[in-house]
Amino acid sequence: MQFSSLEIIDPILKALTEEGYTNPTPIQAEAIPLVLEGNDLLACAQTGTGKTAAFAIPVLQHLYGSRMHGEKRRIRCLVLTPTRELAVQIAESFEAYGRHTGLTNTVLFGGVNQNPQTARLVRGVDIVVATPGRLLDLMGQGFLNLRDVEYFVLDEADRMLDMGFMHDVKRILAALPKKKQSLFFSATMPPEIVKLAAAILHNPSKVSVTPVSSTVEIINQHILFVDKENKNSLLAHLLQNKEIKNALVFTRTKHGADKVAKFLISHSVKAEAIHGNKSQNARQRALNNFKAQETRVLVATDIAARGIDVDELEYVINVDMPNIPETYVHRIGRTGRAGAKGTAYSFCNAEEKEFLRDIEKLIAKSIPVIDGHPFPMMNHNPEKSATSSSSKGNGGHPGPRQQGNTGAKRWNRKPGKSR
Ligand code: AMP
Repeated sequence: MQFSSLEIIDPILKALTEEGYTNPTPIQAEAIPLVLEGNDLLACAQTGTGKTAAFAIPVLQHLYGSRMHGEKRRIRCLVLTPTRELAVQIAESFEAYGRHTGLTNTVLFGGVNQNPQTARLVRGVDIVVATPGRLLDLMGQGFLNLRDVEYFVLDEADRMLDMGFMHDVKRILAALPKKKQSLFFSATMPPEIVKLAAAILHNPSKVSVTPVSSTVEIINQHILFVDKENKNSLLAHLLQNKEIKNALVFTRTKHGADKVAKFLISHSVKAEAIHGNKSQNARQRALNNFKAQETRVLVATDIAARGIDVDELEYVINVDMPNIPETYVHRIGRTGRAGAKGTAYSFCNAEEKEFLRDIEKLIAKSIPVIDGHPFPMMNHNPEKSATSSSSKGNGGHPGPRQQGNTGAKRWNRKPGKSR
């Protein structure tokens, strides 16, 4: 497919040609027509997929089609993004793809003198790309209002959440007009993000870019069924295997990552957690320690793990099953790189079985189960398991428990059998 078949107007097509783009990326091919039709959009996509152009091109086209002449420009499009770097990149993309449209944009972020930003706002712009804090600050000072916004883009929503911007985002949402077209981008879809999307979007079209699953084939994958309260103990048990020189461990939440790291340290395993609550320096330090093999286990959330590229990483352990199947592929794709060996263990409790089903559907194979481990699943009922947080398991000590229990047998299955 070529851009020219997406009904993109000439001034934008010309700019794309000048940029050297001929073929849309998968997310662009899917999202651009939907946004041009006026739909709200929920997109599951990571940086690097071409997602910026997937929203910038159709928004520019809409703005161009209904541009006013001779009036002071009003802010008709707001793009919210978590970091200064992303804000600058996005503004540059609008600039590049919109260079023959006459539309203008500006970028607002904190940590710098606000005067050049406010001067630009006073002159009037069509598109504002902003980080939440500075935007609210300038709104508070009366330099801008959002009442004319017709197109709203929330970029990297999961990272916003991870960086603690949810409150600011909600305040900004409250200042936007009810009637607008909203585009929502997130690389992962944790429950809070799903909730936020539902609050913002009206009957959205959904697009999701599936990562390449070719790496998945060479990775040895295993499932271990275990109750939630025994997951840490199972992890410590697994790490008794000296062959595991280092492992990247994933949890769904920051809190979970901290808890796992603490637990491992208390069991004499050198571990560190890496997530959005930690400073950039602390994250870099943790990563360097892991790469230098001074830390044996790095515990990460999905978002914090982005950009972690460790050569010769052989083991990935999912303490929590990801609720988005693509996330599973991203996680285990950290190992088995460049022909190296790779092994992935995933701990699955009763509530997570539905995630496992989705994952197996995506990778089109069933993942072999390791049975006979010391913490077999006892609680097979999702609801019961959800309310069993009062149960303390075995007090958090690794070691055999409930061995030989026949209840676990029912869940020990061979690949290919249904659960
Ligand atoms: P993004 O995921 O939006 O950060 O984009 C990733 C990179 O891909 C950026 O450097 C874009 O300039 C580039 N890019 C986006 N769309 C295309 C395309 N259709 N053809 C070639 N490069 C592209």
